[in-house]
Amino acid sequence: MNTSPRIVHVQLGPRSYPIEIGTGNLGRSAGMMLQCQPVTHAVIITDMNVSETHAASVARSLDAEQIAVDLLVIEPGEAAKCVDTAEQLWQKLLDLRTDRRSWIVAVGGGVVGDLAGFVAATFTRGLSFLQVPTTLLAQVDSSVGGKVGVNLPSAKNMVGAFWQPRAVLIDTAVLATLPEREYRSGLAEVVKYGVILDAEFFEFLDGRAEALLNQDPRVLESVIERCCQLKADVVAADECDLSGRRAVLNYGHTFCHALETLTGYSQLLHGEGVAIGMQCAARLAERLGRVDAGFTTRQRDLLVRLGLPVAVPKLDHQAIVDCMARDKKVEHGRLHFVLPSRLGHVELVSGIDSSDVLAALQD
Ligand code: NAD
Repeated sequence: MNTSPRIVHVQLGPRSYPIEIGTGNLGRSAGMMLQCQPVTHAVIITDMNVSETHAASVARSLDAEQIAVDLLVIEPGEAAKCVDTAEQLWQKLLDLRTDRRSWIVAVGGGVVGDLAGFVAATFTRGLSFLQVPTTLLAQVDSSVGGKVGVNLPSAKNMVGAFWQPRAVLIDTAVLATLPEREYRSGLAEVVKYGVILDAEFFEFLDGRAEALLNQDPRVLESVIERCCQLKADVVAADECDLSGRRAVLNYGHTFCHALETLTGYSQLLHGEGVAIGMQCAARLAERLGRVDAGFTTRQRDLLVRLGLPVAVPKLDHQAIVDCMARDKKVEHGRLHFVLPSRLGHVELVSGIDSSDVLAALQD
């Protein structure tokens, strides 16, 4: 199905860029790059799960416009988002004679986008890059906003940069090949936008859980557009995470990152960790008297209807709190959390007692 694409603009002065959202629009990849500047060489960074399908479609689009294309394929999965893979990619870019006018094209999920973006930010001190996100999570979140980076073995996303793409191309049709569990994981970030920024959007999602689970293309396009617009507004207000505005996007993430780290980045998908983290954050807010039990139940019900986990995995709770204390969002040893005060509104709350955090980990 081909529909006319929707465009969201990320307004960042000279670093502004468009996000194009459509169905069956991967063939527009070269066009989006050429709208920015003349391009003669591009390196597609992708992973083994999409290299022969979606990355090949992007390569054909570039080839048709006489852009010389090289393809670098990494192992799929979070473990590849590390300094070792970045170093291998830097070396391969050198071997391919990549120069400052070459583009990096990231075709894949958040792992590929974060890693390829980091490589683009650092190789020759910065290459232009196009994000072509192929998971729902990457389409609604990680491909927008320019946070790129890699994990250290004991700390997620600890090394990175702010490096904006020149454009983002979103094709909802690529989600048809995505495993269902991965698709549902992306829905957690979708729900997050409703909870933190837009109560009306939460209601919209609440009324369309079935359509979302069935990947109805019209509903998907409008949901992705709304998420991208909400994220674009936050990023435009606080590009480099300095004022606290952008921090609202981390709702549920302090818990999530600790859970991901303690389960070795392998047991939980990121969105699953976010869903569990959102429930922990809601319970913490409830404990602190910021929201009532109805809020926590409402959020939980939608997450469960969308097939997401909400229970904390079997882990030592003190170890979870200790891990959160090492999170990069800790300032001078004080734990900060993004907590709701009502549906569609969250605030950054600091100085929270670890006993309250421990209690919030209990279902
Ligand atoms: P992912 O990149 O690991 O992709 C999930 C799996 O789906 C992988 O196995 C991948 O190969 C496969 N896949 C991707 N697209 C496919 C398709 N269309 N068909 C079939 N298989 C496909 O995971 P993710 O959930 O996309 O991203 C998670 C990462 O994103 C984490 O590292 C997280 O830290 C990061 N993230 C970054 C930001 C940011 O602002 N930069 C925001 C949120 C999350």
